[in-house]
Amino acid sequence: MRKVLIIEDELAIAELEKDYLELSDFSVDIETNGQSGCKRALESDYDIFILDLMLPDMDGFNICKEIRSKKNTPILLVSARKEDIDKIRGLGLGADDYITKPFSPSELVARVKAHLARYDRLIGSAAAQKNDVIQIREIRIDVTARRVWVRGEEVPFTTKEFELLVFLASHPNRVFSKQEIFQEIWDMESVGDIATVTVHIKKIREKLELNSNKPQYVETIWGVGYRFRV
Ligand code: CA
Repeated sequence: MRKVLIIEDELAIAELEKDYLELSDFSVDIETNGQSGCKRALESDYDIFILDLMLPDMDGFNICKEIRSKKNTPILLVSARKEDIDKIRGLGLGADDYITKPFSPSELVARVKAHLARYDRLIGSAAAQKNDVIQIREIRIDVTARRVWVRGEEVPFTTKEFELLVFLASHPNRVFSKQEIFQEIWDMESVGDIATVTVHIKKIREKLELNSNKPQYVETIWGVGYRFRV
């Protein structure tokens, strides 16, 4: 069950939020005081925080900053004042979203669900990348550690060579034109030109292939481009 912490001094509002969230199978705790809310947020594990900005004893902005300095847990800010929205944006507090009072409880629940789904995707892709090892015949690429083994021997690659290798090897058997490769690996930096692709392909082949003139991994498809053969 996903856990939500509501930090809100108006108990009636907090209870209403809690009722709706529980209907959607969330487990919900309420803190009506800023100091204790902040402490609990930092010490216990929750999946999302719903944080009211106007609290009597501690500013919600500070609580948000405090939580964000220690945790990546999504934070949904609640404000009664439209002008707070500008402040939220201006401060760059690292809040994931905000909602202004009055709001419908079902809107709140929808926002909470959307944020959890987004957060799950983020964590999921990070976790997937963690063990990202590409093995194609005698080539082994540890994407996270940025290391490459060719026929059992580790071979050093420059950053760009590595990026190009990973790009091609993670789309095996697909043909990419030089233009596509250049855009993917170099275009953001707007340095070099398309000829750099040819140069890097040559270097990668020298490292991977037994015979660069008869490549078994990075093949040239004449008139089209290159592909990593499986
Ligand atoms: Ca309040």
